[in-house]
Parts: sequence; structure tokens; C-alpha cells
Amino acid sequence: MRRLRKVKIVATLGPASNDYAMIRALFEAGADVFRLNMSHGTQDDIRARHTIIRQVEADLGRPIAILADLQGPKLRCATFANGEEELVVGQPFRLDLDDTEGDKTRVRLPHPEIFAALEPGASLLINDGKIRLRVDTCGADFADCTVMVGGIISNRKGVNVPDVVLPVAALSEKDRSDLEFACELGVDWLALSFVQRASDVTEARDLAKGRAAILSKIEKPAAVKAFDEILAVSDGIMVARGDLGVELPVQNVPPIQKRLIRRTRAAAKPVIVATQMLESMIESPVPTRAEVSDVATAIYEGADAIMLSAESAAGQFPIEAVTTMNNVAIEVESDPTYKEVIDSSRRIKHTSIADGIVSAAREIAETTDVVAICCFTQRGTTASLVARERPHVPIIALTNIESAARRLCLTWGTHCVMVSEVDRFKSAVIHAVRAALKYGFAVETDMIVVTAGVPFNQPGTTNILRVAPCAEYLIKQTEPE
Ligand code: PGA
Ligand code: MN
Repeated sequence: MRRLRKVKIVATLGPASNDYAMIRALFEAGADVFRLNMSHGTQDDIRARHTIIRQVEADLGRPIAILADLQGPKLRCATFANGEEELVVGQPFRLDLDDTEGDKTRVRLPHPEIFAALEPGASLLINDGKIRLRVDTCGADFADCTVMVGGIISNRKGVNVPDVVLPVAALSEKDRSDLEFACELGVDWLALSFVQRASDVTEARDLAKGRAAILSKIEKPAAVKAFDEILAVSDGIMVARGDLGVELPVQNVPPIQKRLIRRTRAAAKPVIVATQMLESMIESPVPTRAEVSDVATAIYEGADAIMLSAESAAGQFPIEAVTTMNNVAIEVESDPTYKEVIDSSRRIKHTSIADGIVSAAREIAETTDVVAICCFTQRGTTASLVARERPHVPIIALTNIESAARRLCLTWGTHCVMVSEVDRFKSAVIHAVRAALKYGFAVETDMIVVTAGVPFNQPGTTNILRVAPCAEYLIKQTEPE
């Protein structure tokens, strides 16, 4: 089984995609990575889905990545005596630490650290940005505000504070418990919500202790500002457009998306474009033209992966949504303009031997009839470098480490294959040729490029490249490897 596209598809699981038949059908339709959202569902729900995914993986014999998304420090107001109140433009409204239930004039905001960080003039957004308050005066336990955009405020609505770097811990008690739980289950990626600074990422990394790769969700203005430092300590990035479009004016999201994709690609790390990609497909079996165009744009920009949220987790047409993404990707990637865009957006500073080898592999593939680049990779680093080259031929990553194969499911253009440990280059080439044939990337008369590091089993040593005619290595199959 192989994909006929380079971009990867991430599908969020939820009530609409809970059982074996549906999860398997989603994989077969094109989902490469499944996202388990820790904001919804109990640890038992998450465990059940994890078990099913691993069962599908075993039954189909293909690695699948599982991404656990931690809720992060989401702020919420307390409750109202009447359950809800309507706030009208121009009226005063107070947030404080008072224990009594809220009314038309005030509500409790049970986060003392927010009051310490607020300044007059700051904006507070409530209920996904539907209500906007401006802070006029504030102190250690209150903020007196004016309603700038009114609406209904009700019990425990989410509160965003876009202009301020909040002195809140990146990981709540719940996040710490979920992180440990997910690592113990054996997820491949951990996504961190509302990252504000690089130290938020290193804190999670210290807790994960290498058991999962760390993906930072960029959804706060502070994270956009500190992006380079955050990228440096992350294994991957998500352009989390949902909250980003609440915390910043929506028109700022497309330029940020473009910049984040370029920088993350240049760092040879995977980048996901997320949220509302096919939003109307929650209720409709066909997407809008604008949604198709949005998916296509992310692919033209060279994103590693595109993501479905509610479309696959809670919508009526999860399989149709994955199929739509798959079809759009196949069409875009066969467009000659796509090739031009990808070629002109390749911005790589080559600084190592491995960089030189993978760049040579791409050039050979471009100027000859070579049909695939096969790379031996231990932890996945070399495969990421090949993917950064954005070659026009498929990439086959061969590894003997299961966690590396799974993590690479998020990486652009990379088909991962598990192989037994090899110790000689010739046997590596034989493995590569067999994989290329088995998964339909090559036929006997084709040639492939193989890269590896000799001596084997030393991470980070890629130093050898061979152009291999498949036929030559098949005849020798019976000889000792
Ligand atoms: P969420 O993150 O779905 O967990 O909120 C994605 C986003 O904000 O876009
Ligand atoms: Mn979010």
C-alpha cells in the first residue's frame, strides 16, 4: 500500500470516528496520522482509540503516527447566577477574584496571574473572540473593562488575552497527567497548545524524555513573535489557525501561515496546516470551492501535512473529507505549476555531508530516470533532510526503529518501511530495491538512488550514495547479502 501524493493527511478522531471499521476506512481513504484530542474525551476513550489504531497498523502492515494534542492553559471565566448575561457595547464590566456568582456587571476570572500581567488598553476576548473587552484600569485582583463588542456571556466560557505574555505554566496539572499517560501509551507525537515561549517546549520535552516527539501549536501572538526560538527546540510545528484567528485579526493568519511553513521547512521539520480546512464538510458531503482552494494553497506552499478537525472527529462525512483532501493533493501535485513553485521555494543552506548527499540524490533524480530516493535512516534525521529537498520522486525511508518509522508518517513525501538491521551497504541496496518493488514505486527495469551511512547503526553518518539498477540487485537476491 502506497500513497499517490506527497503531502500527508492528519485526521482528528472523535465521536464520529471511534470504531475499528471507521478508523481503518479513514486510513485506507488516506489518513496518515491520527490526532487524539486530550481536550475532549477521557483517558479511557483515548486509550481505546489508541488500541484500535495500533490494531489497524498491525493488520495492514503499515506504520501509522498517533499525535496526542494536550489541552494547554485554556483560561475560563466562572459561572453566573442566571447562567448567562448579555453584554452591551459601551457598558462597563468587571472581572475579579470574588467568589460570588456573576451578574450583568461582573464575573469571577479565577486566574490571579492574569490580573498581575494585565495592563490598561489590553484586550480580553471571550467565547472564541465573539465578545471583546478593553481593560481600562486594573489591579492585583480586578480589571475594570469596557465592552467593545457585545454578546452573550455564559458559564465557564473561554477567555483569550492576546496582547499579553501570560505568566501561566505551559502545562496544567491535567496536561502533566495527560502527557505521562500518552507517553506511556506509546503515542508518537505530542502537540502543545498555546505555546508562548521556547521554555514551554523544553519543559514538555523534559517530561516526555524522548518517548514522543514534540510539536508546537502556534496560536498566540507571543508564539509568532518568539517563533524562531520555539522552532529551534521543537520537532514540528502546527499552524493552529483556529485560535490564531481569534487572538489576531483573521487577515493576519495567511501571511503567518506562509512564513511559518517556509521557516519550518527550512529547518527540516514537519509543519501541519490546521483548522477549518473543509469546515462545511462537517455537514455536507461536498466542500466549498473556497475550502478546496485553501487545501490546495497549503499544498502549493509545501506544507508537510494538512489536518481535519471536527470534519473527521464529529462530522457526518469523515471519509468524504479525507477523500477530498487526497483528491485535491493528487491534482495539485501533478500540476506543472506545483513543480515550479516547489523548486523556487527551495531555500536550503547546506552545511553537512548529509546535506550534500541528499541534495545530490535529488539532482540525480531530477536529471535522470531514477524513480525513487531510498534512504537508510536511524532516528529519521536523514529522511527529514531528503524531504526538505522536496524532490519530485517519492522518498522511501528505511529504518529498523519502529518509533522513527511512525514519526516520519508526518513528513512530506516519505514512505516508511521497516527493515531488519543491516550491516553492509550491498545488503542495504538489496533491501531498498525490494521495498521499491514491493510497494509499487519501481519495476525491475527502473533505477533508484540509495543513500546510507557507513558504518551502519551510527546515527548521523549519511555519507554514501549509489544509483542502483533494480534488476542488478534482484538477480543477486539468492547470493549471500
Ligand atoms: P485546537 O487547535 O483545535 O486544539 O483548538 C487548533 C487551532 O487552534 O487551530
Ligand atoms: Mn487551538
